[in-house]
Amino acid sequence: MSVNNLPETADVSPYWSEIVTELEPYIPGEQPQLVSLIKLNTNENPYPPSPQVAAVYTEQAIADLRCYPDPASMALREKIAAYYTEKNLDQNSDLGLTATNVFVGNGSDEVLAHAFCAFFSGRNEPILFPDISYSFYPVYCNLYRVDSVQLPLDESFNIDFSLYMQKNGGVIFPNPNAPTSIGKPLASIERFLQKNTDSVVIVDEAYIDFGGESAVALVDQYPNLLVVQTLSKSRSLAGARLGFAIGNKDLIAALIRVKDSFNSYPIDRLTEAAGIAAFNDEAYFNDCCQKIMATRNGLVRDLKQMGFQVLPSQANFLMAKPSSMAAAELFECLRARHIIVRFFNKPRIGDYLRITIGTDADMQVLVQALKDIIAG
Ligand code: PMP
Repeated sequence: MSVNNLPETADVSPYWSEIVTELEPYIPGEQPQLVSLIKLNTNENPYPPSPQVAAVYTEQAIADLRCYPDPASMALREKIAAYYTEKNLDQNSDLGLTATNVFVGNGSDEVLAHAFCAFFSGRNEPILFPDISYSFYPVYCNLYRVDSVQLPLDESFNIDFSLYMQKNGGVIFPNPNAPTSIGKPLASIERFLQKNTDSVVIVDEAYIDFGGESAVALVDQYPNLLVVQTLSKSRSLAGARLGFAIGNKDLIAALIRVKDSFNSYPIDRLTEAAGIAAFNDEAYFNDCCQKIMATRNGLVRDLKQMGFQVLPSQANFLMAKPSSMAAAELFECLRARHIIVRFFNKPRIGDYLRITIGTDADMQVLVQALKDIIAG
């Protein structure tokens, strides 16, 4: 086993299908088993889920695990539809979502995988996504045999939509982008949607609750828009695996067709109830997001004082470039002190470290360690 508890890469076996032989699987961030560790490498939330989530795990709910869950996860989809309809009413929008506009999956990774199968596979044109982006997209392209063109971010690491004005089999990008942390304003996404009407546009909003502008408000106007979100980050449920998509009912129907050809029951009973509980506790959600954004602002200040360049973040992580030593070396020095961040050995971002925002106490330990390492 590797440090990540993943099997080491196997040699090709004669029993493998051609598709398995050609797969290039995604490598998730390390989940080390060390105890006293400050883990800032997979953008998890440092705070536990809402106490209302804990209340779901009753003896009765556990006894009920003997029965399958609702294959349609209807109660959760209705909750999500009502939640975003209400949220948008606040912004003077007349968005009216129902469960037919919501799809739920086992983490947004599963939702994204089904979306690649539902909307991108078998298209005549390649799909488009940024060259620096979520590294699962090329993996799904490989799995579903989807051709793709990766378009460069501009010199400030921004997505340049003018490059996307070309015939395509679909478009996907995270907003805010990962791992750059930089968000796009909703108005620029809408301008792009007005021009790109022939293919599905997926906005992957895994980190939207930390200061970005969600495109959910646009789904009733653009039938080719699919917004994908997760409860892993802002709602502290990475371990429960729950993600969802919001879009036109025809897009959702396609995702349901794929899901029902793959796994009828991706959301277990406890997780469905936990998801509903998380959406019910708006005060706790707001409090956690506010705390993380405040901690983020403090860390930006501290890192800049130490000479780091920091990309403008709308996410629960920072991309920071040290000035006095190589990012790879700093990564190893932090690791030796049991502080785990993420380093991508890739063009343009190989000078940066991606640092998840933890608690204020975590950040104090991190900042002190950085000071010591840089001084020493
Ligand atoms: N999209 C992006 C951009 C991400 O960074 C992640 C987290 N790795 C995901 C989707 C998937 O998150 P999850 O499967 O936990 O919902």
